[in-house]
Amino acid sequence: MNALKQEIATLIAHEGPITLERYMTLCLGHPRYGYYMTRDPFGAAGDFVTAPEISQMFGELLGVWASEAWRFAGAPAPTRLIELGPGRGTLMSDVLRVARIAPAFLDAITVHLVETSPLLRRLQEQTLAQAPKMMSWSGDVNETPPGPAIILANEFFDALPVRHYVRTLSGWRERLIGLNASGGLVFGLADEIEPALMAPAREGSIIEVSPASQRVMGDIAARLAREGGVLLVVDYGYPETSLGDSLQAVAKHAYVDPLAEPGEADLTAHVDFAALARAARAEGAKVMGPVTQAQFLLQLGIERRAQTLMKKATPEQAQAILDAFDRLTGVKDPRRQMGGLFKVMAVTHPDMPDLPGFIV
Ligand code: SAH
Repeated sequence: MNALKQEIATLIAHEGPITLERYMTLCLGHPRYGYYMTRDPFGAAGDFVTAPEISQMFGELLGVWASEAWRFAGAPAPTRLIELGPGRGTLMSDVLRVARIAPAFLDAITVHLVETSPLLRRLQEQTLAQAPKMMSWSGDVNETPPGPAIILANEFFDALPVRHYVRTLSGWRERLIGLNASGGLVFGLADEIEPALMAPAREGSIIEVSPASQRVMGDIAARLAREGGVLLVVDYGYPETSLGDSLQAVAKHAYVDPLAEPGEADLTAHVDFAALARAARAEGAKVMGPVTQAQFLLQLGIERRAQTLMKKATPEQAQAILDAFDRLTGVKDPRRQMGGLFKVMAVTHPDMPDLPGFIV
């Protein structure tokens, strides 16, 4: 049994079964054993590959988009360029590199990274050592300086914890994690009955909610409605709230049992974009999308960008650019690529005109 599993088992033995939300929070964020606290999980040698790690085209297009969004917002100065969960810092590095061709934008921004993992903060510092701007780190978006903001969040919301409610014959009950007879971790159900969460749901149905995601979105939307700017959310998820359990544990590019090795696998849930949109609108913000990542990147001109890069590429490099294009847009096989599953949604000040990528 690994050290975190031991600690969680002891916690449950003392306090009783814990919620999935608490379990995920411990697995990902435990100061000593949490998944993001102990490793660099990104890339072919790690557990999973994200869009900025697939190709520089992703961050470059987001950089151009960010400078456009800033212009649409009236080019305020200073503007806070904020990234939530920057991973290795690759996205921000690509964004700031293309920002050099928009000097007024580059002049106007101050850069802020929101990251809870000290290990990943160090990695981000290294990646961004040559960046054309100074930057600051914080552990919470509410600690970034006030003012108009352009906020980027790629594969951030999927890492925030969820709770599950299961429909039983007696009503909805929360899914908990407890101990079996031999002291192992098992899923179970709370004794208490929750208020009716959804009317005609069959026994065994699961509702997944992420109060943490809704809290973060609510805070950001209120800020944008008050002070101006935009949040761009890129993540895998579904456009409408629906029944079902999307909790997944991934290690070394394969699915594993989420209770088997806490802290050793990435634990995520698909993003409920409709729930995020509701949380944003409730604070007076405007919502654009979600659209598929394919639509977003094609509308921003990823084809032209790929062609430009291929002009100065060796044959092997050209093939890598084509492969990255396929993976990011899923034009070849939408089921196996990011293009269809990944969605893009913008949350803005209510006066923001329709932004590139979201034009229908
Ligand atoms: N955006 C990056 C990394 C995605 S992984 C990429 O696309 O490659 C999720 C990132 O969010 C990691 O950097 C992780 O450490 C960070 N993170 C997870 N939970 C967080 C939280 N509650 N607050 C801030 N950062 C968090």
